[in-house]
Amino acid sequence: MSDKQGIGTIAVQGGYRPGNGEPRQIPVVQSTTFKYATGDDMGALFDLEASGYFYTRLQNPTNDSVAAKIAELEGGTAAMLTSSGQAANFFAIFNIAGAGDHVVSASSIYGGTYNLFNVTMKRMGISFTFVDPDASLEEISASFRPNTKAVFGETIANPALNVLDIEKFAKAAHDHGVPLIVDNTFPTPIHCRPFEWGADIVTHSTTKYMDGHGVSVGGAIVDSGHFDWNKYADKYPGLTTPDDSYHGITYTECFGLEGAYITKATAQLMRDFGSIQSPQNAFYLNMGLESLHLRMKRHAENGQALAEFLEKHPAVASVEYAGLPSSRYHALAEKYLPDGGCGVVSFRLKGGRAAAQKFMENLKIAAIETHVADARSCVLHPASTTHRQLSDAELEAAGVYNDLIRFSCGIEDPEDLIADVAQALDALNA
Ligand SMILES: *Cc1c(COP(=O)(O)O)cnc(C)c1O
Repeated sequence: MSDKQGIGTIAVQGGYRPGNGEPRQIPVVQSTTFKYATGDDMGALFDLEASGYFYTRLQNPTNDSVAAKIAELEGGTAAMLTSSGQAANFFAIFNIAGAGDHVVSASSIYGGTYNLFNVTMKRMGISFTFVDPDASLEEISASFRPNTKAVFGETIANPALNVLDIEKFAKAAHDHGVPLIVDNTFPTPIHCRPFEWGADIVTHSTTKYMDGHGVSVGGAIVDSGHFDWNKYADKYPGLTTPDDSYHGITYTECFGLEGAYITKATAQLMRDFGSIQSPQNAFYLNMGLESLHLRMKRHAENGQALAEFLEKHPAVASVEYAGLPSSRYHALAEKYLPDGGCGVVSFRLKGGRAAAQKFMENLKIAAIETHVADARSCVLHPASTTHRQLSDAELEAAGVYNDLIRFSCGIEDPEDLIADVAQALDALNA
């Protein structure tokens, strides 16, 4: 039924459909554990023979309702919530890659994700090759190895704001028999649904637009159910051969292509790493999801208006916003983001690093925060904050220059945002 519903209806009502006399709003099941009459009843749950809840570290009804809504929004078959976007991206890859394996990733990605891949997961024995997202299909294909298990990219990269050519990356991945994982945090499924363009798995930092109110840190992983793990069974034995830690269950056999990946991530990774989202945070996240379609429209309108203003301003050296016809990503935005992108605009000031920092201090409405994609406008200097662990060469590869400002337009009135930016720029000359 949800297939025929509009994205706004799913945002409001998806995932949770109460029966007669049940709570209208998703109940917060603030309980660590669940009660059973017999040990055998519970044993069947442990063996994954019956579905039900036994311990919130693995699954919780509040989280499952909210995850089901996100799966519907993305058009996927299964989803899970995680404690953060970092946990989502870690699980998404570690679920199908381990020591000795290799992953191809777009080079312009969120700084925290780059660090996770290039430092922490490297220490776990997984190697990464970072490719320019604008590279040709041939160049991307050349970075694959026999042990490559996945390809990763961000729909709209944070903070470089390049638009990923999802079809190109999906083709490279599928030509080599591996899935494409796309972090869809910035456009959200309101403005882009990567599964429609060939992506196999989608991740989110729900901390950003999905929550949208700066309330709770969280993440999500969604499976399209499209990737045929059985066809490449030798590459993905964790999904296609018995799991001894779960009494010999074979995930693809028991849960089909639509459920294998998320069930394995829940049963193994959530069990062992425990990065569960708290049910209370999942409840807050759902409050955000209920207005996501309305907010994304305004975020994108404000982003477009600010980008157009900045492009004409004499103090501004360059602006990156894919909604501008001058952007090198405009054609990709028209294809993948026809209803608009997001509220984040990156720009460089002619006065360099010092002017960038002074400009930010001059702002009155937009606040300096390590945050993005909030209802309130905020601003950040990535080179001295989120990306400060990167070398100059790594910064440039990530599209983050030391005078780059990332401005996240909230949902305030556009006239007020632009007036604030105008006075902050004027004050640079004072
Ligand atoms: C913020 C962010 C993350 C990390 O998410 P957290 O919820 O902060 O852990 C991952 N990817 C992108 C694109 C992000 O913007």
